[in-house]
Amino acid sequence: MILLDRVSKAYSKKGGTALERISLHIEPKEFVIIVGASGAGKSTLLKLLTREEKPTSGKIIVGGIDYERLHDRDVPRLRRRIGVVFQDFKLLPNKTVYENVAFALEIIGVSTKEIRNTVPRVLDIVGLKDKEKSMPLELSGGERQRVAIARAIVRQPKILIADEPTGNLDPKHAWDVIKVLEKINRYGTTVLLTTHNQDIVNKLKRRVVTITDGKIQSDEARGSYNL
Ligand code: ADP
Repeated sequence: MILLDRVSKAYSKKGGTALERISLHIEPKEFVIIVGASGAGKSTLLKLLTREEKPTSGKIIVGGIDYERLHDRDVPRLRRRIGVVFQDFKLLPNKTVYENVAFALEIIGVSTKEIRNTVPRVLDIVGLKDKEKSMPLELSGGERQRVAIARAIVRQPKILIADEPTGNLDPKHAWDVIKVLEKINRYGTTVLLTTHNQDIVNKLKRRVVTITDGKIQSDEARGSYNL
């Protein structure tokens, strides 16, 4: 469960507010699309959830964790519950597909045996079982993004944040990525997606939260996005 109660964020005293009294309730296993013009506050909202930024005021509770009471030493534990995928993939160029995904487990001390078990299973979910040994540069943009998704879900997060994951992709590859997000959501992960792609938003027929100038303009169960 994600709960934001009257959350505001101002980056500086003299600047404007990036978010103004945002209240939002997201149930476990929901698929929510966040839309809004550039500068509306979407990234700020996601950064508050991953604790890259702290709110100026308001309450944030994610999976029973009240962010006000969260110590810095607990942030890594929080981040394991939240997988993040970005527009620009952020893969390690000198590692294979398998190694890129395995690395997310190595750094938290998972045994080699468990890694050998888990990584192929996750690559299967994203449809890349036969690309284990490929290098990122040998893959299409859509395949690279699916590696990034595999890496984000390999620790079995409760929430997956996908920030403009299709921004660099052509329509066919964009849909491959969206289908993977839907599959992960079916398996029980809450998905938060930001996108500027109207076609994707309107075909998905999911909950759409529209942010305008740091405020929630609308929140619709089967929303659409029309500029
Ligand atoms: P979006 O993701 O919807 O494009 P952002 O959350 O990035 O919007 O930005 C919301 C507002 O906050 C914008 O006015 C932007 O200039 C400002 N902003 C974002 N990040 C910072 C920062 N690190 N320092 C100061 N202002 C920022």
